[in-house]
Amino acid sequence: MTTCIFCKIIAREIPCTPVFENEHLIAIDDISPVAPVHKLIIPKKHISTLNDLTAEDIPLIGHLLSTGTHLAKTLKIDQDGYRLVENCNAGAGQTVYHVHFHLLGGRTFHWPPG
Ligand code: AMP
Ligand code: ZN
Repeated sequence: MTTCIFCKIIAREIPCTPVFENEHLIAIDDISPVAPVHKLIIPKKHISTLNDLTAEDIPLIGHLLSTGTHLAKTLKIDQDGYRLVENCNAGAGQTVYHVHFHLLGGRTFHWPPG
């Protein structure tokens, strides 16, 4: 039995309405959005943090990123601008230890992020 909340979502032990899904990944709405568009792009393979990636995961990461750019276009945030963010470990704000990209858009972001 997994205790990982994203693995539970992928296994549908927790219900969700995916915005996109294929054999490699699932994209869902973030439960606590910080922007008008806030999707999570989650690999079906459990990888705890970016630090745990191996060479065999490189195509998967490309797949996650290209899904993010595809969703940005579909959601029409690509021209105004968007962020694809991955938080690695607690100091960067990671709270769910299953690699995922945040797709953020629909408002203006500032740099540096603070
Ligand atoms: P991070 O802090 O980068 O690990 O991001 C984890 C994200 O998962 C946060 O933005 C949470 O709001 C989101 N989250 C946690 N539980 C759920 C859930 N059950 N469904 C959707 N998003 C969730
Ligand atoms: Zn997991």
